[in-house]
Order: sequence, then structure tokens, then C-alpha cells
Amino acid sequence: MQLIFMGPPGAGKGTQAQLLASLWNIPHISTGDILRASVVAKTALGQKAQSYMDAGDLVPDQLLMDLVQERMNQPDASAGWILDGFPRTVPQAAFFDQLLCDVPGAGPKSGKDCALRAVNLDVPDNVLVTRLLSRGRQDDNEQTIRHRLQVYREQTEPLIEFYRDRQQLVAVDGDRSMAEVTAELQQALSGDQICH
Ligand code: AMP
Repeated sequence: MQLIFMGPPGAGKGTQAQLLASLWNIPHISTGDILRASVVAKTALGQKAQSYMDAGDLVPDQLLMDLVQERMNQPDASAGWILDGFPRTVPQAAFFDQLLCDVPGAGPKSGKDCALRAVNLDVPDNVLVTRLLSRGRQDDNEQTIRHRLQVYREQTEPLIEFYRDRQQLVAVDGDRSMAEVTAELQQALSGDQICH
């Protein structure tokens, strides 16, 4: 099972990704969580990323590529994963494609058995703003939220077409209860295999 969770901030991708990952016993890899932990730990990566995150901007591609490459080489990532918040730009997606060909167990051969799926959770902007304002994270003030949504529409939304073109897209209406969305995701992804 190799899943990418896309969708705008506040679409519920983190919640759904975490839930399904624990159900399927595969790691939930959230680049946002890794970056926030790096900021708290004041690592070199955290220090470079913090100002971008506070402003609601994307952290530069190269930092994310290094981060994901390292994480994908961990042993627990060999049986599949749910990637939450990456890729977020077309260059990241192209890089990731290449990386999957290089990582043992995820090469072109096994790719057929454990096809990558990119899930997009679609939610209207007004619902997203309301949800994010009630979440209260440090980067969740209204100005930053509006900026993050704009960044999403400009830089990340093109990935929907990227994955649709490759017939890897699973589009789900995220403007429903958490349980309804989980049920639809489970059904839509039930044909996929855990890959070894
Ligand atoms: P998230 O928790 O996924 O909303 O991510 C929080 C913040 O981390 C984002 O607003 C970005 O600043 C940064 N971030 C997370 N993932 C990425 C990524 N794939 N590319 C660039 N920046 C990212």
C-alpha cells in the first residue's frame, strides 16, 4: 500500500491518514509533523524551515526531498506507507517518482503489485477556513490560513491533474463527517495490497 494524501489544509487528510495507517499497520509519514518536530528540536532543518512555516509558505523543495529520501530508506517504510503532505509541488512529485524507482522494494517491478494511489480530499474554502480557525495551531491564524490556501491552489492543486493523468488519482468528497470519509476511503482503496 503506497498512498499519498493530498488536499488543502484543513481537509482532514492528517486525521484520515493517521487512522488508516494504524488500521493497515503501515507508517503514517507527515512531512508537516516531521518539520514541526525539527523546529521544536532546533535541528538545522528546523531552523531553515521555521520562517517558511510561520509565514504559511512552502519549505524549499530540496529540503523536503532530502527529508523524504531519508525517511523512505527507513526499514519500516518497506511494506508501504501513507504519505501526508508530500509531494506538494510538481518538482517534488517528479523527484518522488524517481525515488520510488530507486528504493528497494518499491521499484518498477513491485510497483505493479502495490500501485501508488494519490488521494485527494476536496473541501470548499469556506469550510476549510472555519475548520482551521477552530484547530488553533500556531500557523492557523486567519491571514496565514488564507495564504496557505492560496499556496495550495497555486502550487499543489496541479498535482491532481498530474496523478489523474497517470490514473493514480482517488478523488473523495471531504466535506462530510469523518466517519463517512473514512468509510469511502476504505472502500475505494480496498482492492490495494500491502506490498512486501
Ligand atoms: P502540514 O502539517 O502538512 O499542513 O504542513 C505544515 C507546513 O509545513 C506547511 O505549511 C509548509 O510550510 C511545511 N510543509 C509540509 N510539507 C511540505 C512539503 N511537502 N513541501 C513544502 N513545505 C511543506
